[in-house]
Amino acid sequence: MNSQELFERARQVMPGGVNSPVRAFRAVGGTPLFIARALGSRLFDVEGQSYLDYCMSWGAIILGHAHPVVVEAVQKQIVCGTSFGTCHELEVLMAEEICRVFPSIEMVRFTNSGTEAVMSALRLARGYTGRTLVVKFSGCYHGHVDSLLVQGGSGLLTLGIPDSLGIPEAFAQTTILLPYNHVEEVTKAFSQWGEKIAAVIVEPVAGNMGVVVPSREFLETLRQVTLDYGALLIFDEVITGFRVSYSGAQGYYGIFPDLTILGKIIGGGLPVGAYGGRRAIMEYVAPEGKVYQAGTLSGNPLALSAGYAVVTYLRDHPEIYSELECRTQRLALGMKSIFQNAGIPVHVNQLGSMLTLFFSQEAVHDSASTSRVDRRLYADFFHEMLRNGVYLPPSPFEAMFLSLAHSDDDIDMTLEIAQKFASKRGFFSP
Ligand SMILES: *Cc1c(COP(=O)(O)O)cnc(C)c1O
Repeated sequence: MNSQELFERARQVMPGGVNSPVRAFRAVGGTPLFIARALGSRLFDVEGQSYLDYCMSWGAIILGHAHPVVVEAVQKQIVCGTSFGTCHELEVLMAEEICRVFPSIEMVRFTNSGTEAVMSALRLARGYTGRTLVVKFSGCYHGHVDSLLVQGGSGLLTLGIPDSLGIPEAFAQTTILLPYNHVEEVTKAFSQWGEKIAAVIVEPVAGNMGVVVPSREFLETLRQVTLDYGALLIFDEVITGFRVSYSGAQGYYGIFPDLTILGKIIGGGLPVGAYGGRRAIMEYVAPEGKVYQAGTLSGNPLALSAGYAVVTYLRDHPEIYSELECRTQRLALGMKSIFQNAGIPVHVNQLGSMLTLFFSQEAVHDSASTSRVDRRLYADFFHEMLRNGVYLPPSPFEAMFLSLAHSDDDIDMTLEIAQKFASKRGFFSP
């Protein structure tokens, strides 16, 4: 059975043949790969073809696929049972490590996904402040939480309108949608609604419109204005936590939120999310306080065994972050010069081990500038790389991720293939 045949069958029994929309390749066309196994930096499809993976489970994998410390931890745990429905030691160890690493987190609650953690953190922020409105930035993704799947209303400074069927207008109207990196819009929104705003939620480095780096002034303004108006600042570090530095984007920038959302890396490839913050806020969560939130599988021992193995490995090998950054920079600079030399407009946004190539005339600093990228060219590039055994994210608006398993040879191979593509497509052939 090859990917094409499996996809035909999948489409009969699952919407779009997938369990998460971007996997369906709609942005680039063609048939998604059916993966049979993964090791290190490589995916192997059902036909045994190998691919150098720059998607890395959307950033969840940082040590490389099937890393021995993760495999060993999960194997050790699985024979002891997969779910207890009660307390166990790994929850304490993982919570202690998260609280040690993030000075802004004194208490944490584990969930099963990033979405679930975001949803719970918003409930907590509303319960704690007694307010309703939440500020969100266009281009940031915080999971498929009802109230956050919004488009901007007509004109600036209006409340959101639903971006999906099935979302009551009343939910969308609890969200104020603002452009990323635009300081004046933030202060304007607060002067209009400040006393009603429960929280500002933001990806402190955006990864879901492609990589978009914040200006320091933007993050500082969010911190200041939320303090001034008694709203909570929520950093959604589902991608950036343990990725842009061990202590996430907040450690990298030295700007600290009231609540933090974690996910992806802290599950080591198994389903985990978490939210945490100051004790005074977290004590509002049941059973300590009156904000209800629960989960049959929350703090699942198997998932935490994988996550704890990854997190402690990263803690014990702090040099990983500069190595990752070095390789990622080499890839980013290489790509940039390849396309520039070929006369193809490109902007490469990169921070730590995440990067995006935007085929665009202009620098990309918010979601409006992402809308002007050449989607067609990205689709062609994606398929040319795929034919040559390199798997990029199947959308021009997603981040590429490197892992510890990505070698210098992997980078060289990637650049060689990109060079061939650029030479064929560029205005100036070498
Ligand atoms: C992936 C992601 C989420 C959602 O996490 P899921 O585990 O997919 O529910 C939330 N926020 C950000 C920033 C993400 O990248």
